[in-house]
Amino acid sequence: MKRVDKPGLRIGRFLLVILFFGGFFMGIDARAQSEPAAGIAIAVHGGAGTILRDQMTQETEQAYRDKMTEALRSGYEVLRQGGSSLDAVTAAIVILEDSPLFNAGHGAVLTSEGTVELDASIMDGSDRSAGAVAGLQHIRNPIRLARLVMEQSPHVIMAGNGAEQFAQELGMDLVPNEYFLTPRRREQLEQIQRQQQDSPTGSLLPPDEQKFGTVGAVALDRNGNLAAGTSTGGTANKRFGRIGDSPIIGAGTYADNETCAVSSTGHGEFFIRGVVAYDIAAMMRYGGLSLDEAANAVIQGRLTAMGGTGGVIAMDRQGNIAMPFNTPGMYRGYIDRDGDLSIQIFRDGE
Ligand code: ASP
Repeated sequence: MKRVDKPGLRIGRFLLVILFFGGFFMGIDARAQSEPAAGIAIAVHGGAGTILRDQMTQETEQAYRDKMTEALRSGYEVLRQGGSSLDAVTAAIVILEDSPLFNAGHGAVLTSEGTVELDASIMDGSDRSAGAVAGLQHIRNPIRLARLVMEQSPHVIMAGNGAEQFAQELGMDLVPNEYFLTPRRREQLEQIQRQQQDSPTGSLLPPDEQKFGTVGAVALDRNGNLAAGTSTGGTANKRFGRIGDSPIIGAGTYADNETCAVSSTGHGEFFIRGVVAYDIAAMMRYGGLSLDEAANAVIQGRLTAMGGTGGVIAMDRQGNIAMPFNTPGMYRGYIDRDGDLSIQIFRDGE
């Protein structure tokens, strides 16, 4: 059969080809413009609170600096080898959970009943998938279980016995609750409960008399993916069953490649009500603020105005880092996109 090749058809085909390739190259251009700067970076925190130089021995300070350095280096190594920001965040948090220095995993604070109940969450900025666990009593590394909830279940948050049974089904070992208990935290609880008897005004000390000590990490990997994670024992002398902000996506943890990754620490009830982590992302997305402007506006502005205390570590897709807090100190550190490591504890940046 003879093909009919009318001039009109030829022009039509020509226009289609132009449209196709034009669209293709415009697409590449748009992607190129939104491509993040090549580079990797990681930041961690070990909690905000009344952390004062004159109340800390040099040895204690050094122990905190060493452990945060170890966590940062282990996460950074994952990134350097081309691993994902999720793996880097998990690796860094596991080290802090295993250390008795921080209020997460082994060495977490005690409930009013003298037990340990742990919360954690993790979020993948590439697709906003997330996993969280709350009220765990027998999981050595809650951040790992949060990750399993994200990757191996259709859910986002699982709590208590159900979460622990899920962990067992996936081959995770349970540990006795005593594994988490340390003499330091028992003494802290006794001290709080003694003070409470003297002045029974509430179940918590005033926030600025507490040292929180939750741990968290944010990271950017070679593929431009952001991730954030947070893990905690909550607040000392909390009622059993109380759940804080750390396992609440948008409050304690948030990550979204288009804006930022955030991990919070502080008086959780305020972080939940202020939707703090997401508020920072929203200010960037809808208000066009930079990471630094948004993080400061939320912590120094909105959270402070509500009466909330604490801070965040936050990172954007270019690897910029912000670490605002409104407490006397916050254990914090980073390895930035230039590979420079910094650890700070006190308000003066030291
Ligand atoms: N935000 C945590 C909570 O309220 C405590 C902390 O950050 O130390 O559970």
